[in-house]
Amino acid sequence: MNRPAPSPTLHLDWTRCQARGACLELLPDLLRPDEDGYPLPLTPPRQRSDIPLDPAQLPAARDAVALCPRLALTLRGQR
Ligand code: SF4
Repeated sequence: MNRPAPSPTLHLDWTRCQARGACLELLPDLLRPDEDGYPLPLTPPRQRSDIPLDPAQLPAARDAVALCPRLALTLRGQR
């Protein structure tokens, strides 16, 4: 029996991020800045580094991964 595919998530690596903000502009329904401009999940829990994605959010998430100047974003669990 096949396992269902895991839900895609956007992984944020804050050790790489320099709060440049491109992802915040591309994913306003997924991320919001903290007081220093670092992206956090829009919905709780705010400390998580893997943010579940709806299928409709995947194209913008792919753009954010490609455009992040610090390679701080990755997609996980997608085919
Ligand atoms: S685009 Fe990359 S470096 Fe810029 S805020 Fe987002 S994760 Fe951080």
